[in-house]
Amino acid sequence: MANLIRRLQARSRKEGVLPVALLALKTLHRRLRYHTYFLSYLLKQEIYIHTLKISNSIRRASRQGTLFIVPIIDTEGPSSTDIGSDWSKVDEMVEEVMSRQFRTKFKDSFGNLLVLSWFIVDWVNYRQNPRKRILGHHKIFDHFHDLWLSENRWKDGIYWHYHHSKSDGSWGIHKDWNDNRYYEDVLCRKIIDRNFFPSCYRAGNTMETNASSAWLEKWIPFDFSSRSPFIDDTAEDIFDWHNSPTDWSVYHPSHRDYQVRGDMKRWVFRSLDADNRKWFTQREVENAFLRAKGGKDTILSFFSHDYKDLSGDFRYALDLIKCVAKSYPEVEMRNASAKDAVSKIIKENKVPLKLKLTLKKDSLVIKSDKELFSEQPFLAFKDVRGSYFRGDVKKIGKNVWGCRFERKSIASIAVGAADKSGNTCVARIDL
Ligand SMILES: [Zn+2]
Repeated sequence: MANLIRRLQARSRKEGVLPVALLALKTLHRRLRYHTYFLSYLLKQEIYIHTLKISNSIRRASRQGTLFIVPIIDTEGPSSTDIGSDWSKVDEMVEEVMSRQFRTKFKDSFGNLLVLSWFIVDWVNYRQNPRKRILGHHKIFDHFHDLWLSENRWKDGIYWHYHHSKSDGSWGIHKDWNDNRYYEDVLCRKIIDRNFFPSCYRAGNTMETNASSAWLEKWIPFDFSSRSPFIDDTAEDIFDWHNSPTDWSVYHPSHRDYQVRGDMKRWVFRSLDADNRKWFTQREVENAFLRAKGGKDTILSFFSHDYKDLSGDFRYALDLIKCVAKSYPEVEMRNASAKDAVSKIIKENKVPLKLKLTLKKDSLVIKSDKELFSEQPFLAFKDVRGSYFRGDVKKIGKNVWGCRFERKSIASIAVGAADKSGNTCVARIDL
């Protein structure tokens, strides 16, 4: 609090008293709101745990559910104000979690080693860079791919993390998803330049809105952004998950509110901060074990960052899980990547998806060998001047789409898509 007051005093000298007083009021309002939600969450959590204990003791489930352990890394490269201030420090921490010694410490009930899920960001469209981030398309992706993930001996998951930047390039996250469509540019480049289409997504700062939810609904089946029931308690008000499920269940969101259950097709999963001992707690872990004991397959997920104390954060979370597991020997734990855990939970299959492109003069035909998650595949163009953009396609048959374009202006075409099980495919043509 003393720090906050000092910061506000310094700002009021620079910006004037009134705007800073308004900011202070807004911050106070957010903090009060946060504490109200937090208290009600603690109360609900106790009631939920006791209800589960009673119902599990009265009605023995015909089968125990499996508890999938899914550690997530928001993969962002160095950050000058954190432990991982340059690549050598980040790589040192990553090396530890990539070691056999680290992975074998957390074997599951079947003897499988720990599997991690890397959600990788591109820092693009920023003019300011106060934390000396590595700016540019594919910079983080290529570093991790070349050094750590090309061999992928632990079968880790590789997915997409996206921070929506402001139109003026100032640092921070932009809440207006419709203000620009940088995310389409980022995804076009991933498809065309790196042959990559994600099955799973995590929102930057876990900032989601109904607009971003509607866009994701068109393309990406699995979203691990829920941080329920937490909200950002600063005046910036970046993320808000106060209304979404806290019982480790997954849900299809509503068009009207991304936080509540509805009739969208995509799935939203919860993952909590491994570096926040007040949020990822023993009670949360018990809650997940009890749910699995009651017969429901459950994903228990937590996250940290590559530039933080990654191995320390994960050791904290995994030690907590190992400690709680002693009280629930009947619950089977399974280490899994985000996508593999989801496939088991929603009982979908692993048959690979295939896309085929056929080009005739100025028209393109896209065929999929099975039904997609989305209504259409994501069509990415790169023109002869080096610009990337998404193209629209028209459905012309079952799992077939067509598109016309001006051939002389296009250098590359690629298509990416996911099926309902999260199997992904990219097909491309260079002109
Ligand atoms: Zn992030």
